[in-house]
Amino acid sequence: MIRKFISRVLSGKKNRPGAPTPAVIPVATHGISRDRISAGSRRVCETLQEQGHQAYVVGGAVRDLLLGVEPKDFDVATNATPEEVRRAFRRSRIIGRRFQIVHVMMGQEQIEVTTFRGELGDDAKKDEHGRVLRDNVFGSHAEDAARRDFTANALYYDPAAETVIDYHHGVGDLKAKTLRMIGEPKSRYREDPVRMLRAVRLAAKLGLVIDPEARRPIREMAELLENVPAARLFDEMLKLLTSGHAVKCITQLRDEGLHHGLLPLLDVILEQPLGEKFVMLALANTDERVRQGKGTSPGFLFAALLWHEALAHWEKLKAAGEPKIPALFQAMDMVLDVQAEKLAITRRIAADIKDIWLLQPRFDQRAGKRPYSLIEQPRFRAGYDFLLLRAEAGEVEMEVADWWTRFQNADGPERAQMLLPEPAGEKKRRRRRKKPASATAESDSPPAAA
Ligand code: ATP
Ligand code: MG
Repeated sequence: MIRKFISRVLSGKKNRPGAPTPAVIPVATHGISRDRISAGSRRVCETLQEQGHQAYVVGGAVRDLLLGVEPKDFDVATNATPEEVRRAFRRSRIIGRRFQIVHVMMGQEQIEVTTFRGELGDDAKKDEHGRVLRDNVFGSHAEDAARRDFTANALYYDPAAETVIDYHHGVGDLKAKTLRMIGEPKSRYREDPVRMLRAVRLAAKLGLVIDPEARRPIREMAELLENVPAARLFDEMLKLLTSGHAVKCITQLRDEGLHHGLLPLLDVILEQPLGEKFVMLALANTDERVRQGKGTSPGFLFAALLWHEALAHWEKLKAAGEPKIPALFQAMDMVLDVQAEKLAITRRIAADIKDIWLLQPRFDQRAGKRPYSLIEQPRFRAGYDFLLLRAEAGEVEMEVADWWTRFQNADGPERAQMLLPEPAGEKKRRRRRKKPASATAESDSPPAAA
């Protein structure tokens, strides 16, 4: 009943019978007392309310608290304008050009404060596929709720009254473990195709089922992701991969047909039988780290995801007679160039990926002085973790990984004893290398058994 009413409101302004009335759920029912809200976001709401504005904790934090999950951060929505918010807090600044939001610092905490957004007018600027390009009108509380993606994300918590304000039956949907789109799913995906990825990520992360109405159109609309700017796609992929539920997310993306031909990264991950085991291990490893509260580095993650693609190119180039290390450099560029078209892997992350990959052939060298210089490399740790992953996947002998584990922990004499004898050809080559005229580049050495 309520839902029908809401979709009527959303589908046309003409017969709009006035603003919808939300359910106001008391603490006795929802169970979230104000001490569960971060001190900073509570303070932001109080200050704005004292100045006569409406202000609520909104979105993911309310949803997560209702599910008993620790929120990542606390966002605030208000009817105060960005300028009013900025004036209300000494340590605050307005960011964003398209839709201004305010970052307020409270101690160590940064709170994102957003002014209620208005309904998308018929004149909203869109691209030729219907993706909304500009979205910067302020609106009422009800309009703000209607502009959010899922009912579970459109919940507002008032710390003063300890109530949850629910315009779209979000609390009920959460109880039923359902992720339901607000409004008509197809048009909401058209407005912003990233919502398809958000649906998969949130469902996987929170153990929710995507409502069939919202799930059905995903397969046919998947190609709309092609028009999403690369940087936005990259951000969303990173969120997904570092959600602590990457394995589940990736599996579900495949089930929804969201990987095919759209995100080269996912094609790569899921359609290389050799790489799949490695990637799944890497993701499980990342999930574990996230759950233990350890950091994850995007460089390491993408190095793992793209490794088998790089390996394939590398092997091909070597087979065509290219020397080992130049071949690896070429292979890296080939892989990263393809990804760059769709995913804006930043320069820094690309540099991290290359560092990790370039260290790999060096782990084969366990004689002479080389192991000593390798462990002094600034990126040794990441390279070594990557080696462990390769060993776990069966791509490198476990004995090699174990050797490096022991070598790092050994003292001087023990290390010296561990060194392998120089390969027969190696000494000769070294001697030759000393004479500049006949120097042989390291890259010309035969590929070590990997
Ligand atoms: P997370 O746990 O990843 O932070 P979240 O739902 O809080 O999940 P955010 O990206 O922090 O995700 O967004 C905050 C809120 O903004 C959401 O809960 C939702 O209400 C709204 N929102 C975010 N992205 C969209 C979108 N693409 N379309 C509509 N509403 C959105
Ligand atoms: Mg959030």
